[in-house]
Amino acid sequence: MAVAKTDSSTRVRIFSSEDALLKQARAIHERVITLDTHIDFAPGDLVGEQNYTQRLDTQFNLPNMIDGGLDGLFFVVYVGQTRETQNPEALKTQGYERAYRAAVEKFDAVHRFTRDIAPDKIELALNVADVHRINLQGKKIALIGVENGYPLGEDIARVKEFYDRGARYLSLAHNGHNQLADSHTGERDGWKWNGLSPLGKQVIGEMNRLGIMVDVSHASKESVMQTARLSKAPLIASHSAVRALCDVSRNLDDEQLLALKQTGGVLQVVAYGGFVKTRKPDSPDRAAALAALRRTFDLANPNDPRERGRFHAALKQLSDNQRAEYETKLAEIDTEHPGDPPAAVKDFIDHIDYAVNLIGVDHVGISSDFDGGGGIIGWNDAGETFNVTLELVRRGYTEAQIEKLWSGNLLRVIDEVQRIARELQK
Ligand SMILES: [Zn+2]
Repeated sequence: MAVAKTDSSTRVRIFSSEDALLKQARAIHERVITLDTHIDFAPGDLVGEQNYTQRLDTQFNLPNMIDGGLDGLFFVVYVGQTRETQNPEALKTQGYERAYRAAVEKFDAVHRFTRDIAPDKIELALNVADVHRINLQGKKIALIGVENGYPLGEDIARVKEFYDRGARYLSLAHNGHNQLADSHTGERDGWKWNGLSPLGKQVIGEMNRLGIMVDVSHASKESVMQTARLSKAPLIASHSAVRALCDVSRNLDDEQLLALKQTGGVLQVVAYGGFVKTRKPDSPDRAAALAALRRTFDLANPNDPRERGRFHAALKQLSDNQRAEYETKLAEIDTEHPGDPPAAVKDFIDHIDYAVNLIGVDHVGISSDFDGGGGIIGWNDAGETFNVTLELVRRGYTEAQIEKLWSGNLLRVIDEVQRIARELQK
């Protein structure tokens, strides 16, 4: 809002209303359970000498979680997969066994962290009653989700095994098709199953029977639509955003969002920059200036996914003086040839607004994908979690609505999925 006159009485009014807003947002943030449905981890960060009880150089860790008032999270048991085009053995026994061992290592790490390393600070929840009990005890709430059904191999009994290990959601696919379903990457690479495989359909039935939420993030559109028709229980998208606002294959279009709502499910909007905002390419002047700067400091190109790792590693190698010089020159370029700013909290909340308008406030939630590529300006680590609530309050969401977005909807789905499982087991 532009304020033409800045006499002192106007300023005081603006400051005091901003102050009241902050106070109101803080109180709401305190009262509601804030739950992030997608945080990645390396087992070493949970159970190593240096672990998440300390302020590691990670977006998520317990000190950050406490600073940001984040109450709970899904630790994600993620296992990547090699694609069949790269390795013809990918969807055979050896590939499955490697993936299975990697998944078990991650399950074990979460159990050791919550049971042995930080039992006074965080506890594993298996149902909604656990979530409320742990929260009342003043501890942080851990849940487990599985990203990629690949480590199940072709053994349907492993769905039960993963449930017993604490998995409360499982995504059928990741990047690249697997034995269960087509991935969103088929938009570029072509399809394997045209949706779900016969085994994938069986696995959905087994997840319904056991009470594991089916997660459609990373799946292809056809896989999502078939899953929505097939599943007897509500679906979730544990970390996806709105395709109408950012046209990437990882996001859900309106038809998919309406199908998700039909199941009673929830879209956990993800704060992953590349899924929140499509940035305009740099102007030729800016691109040239940045390239020259990288040459001076012998750095790779952070905008090229294949070089990003090398860029960050080389940046860490710079001396303090070199680093300061690099930052100064970068700031000069930003002033002289500004680029399209990266995704920020406002852009992220635009996705929440859009989804709420389309499918209703009962079907939308929040996720970060921290330590898995997520993070935006203003919510770039768990310590900045309050900024999300603040922007929701600024946009006029009520406490009851914010409570639904931050955890109420997702907890309702967990309850519903477990209730349906009990029915099916009768
Ligand atoms: Zn992911």
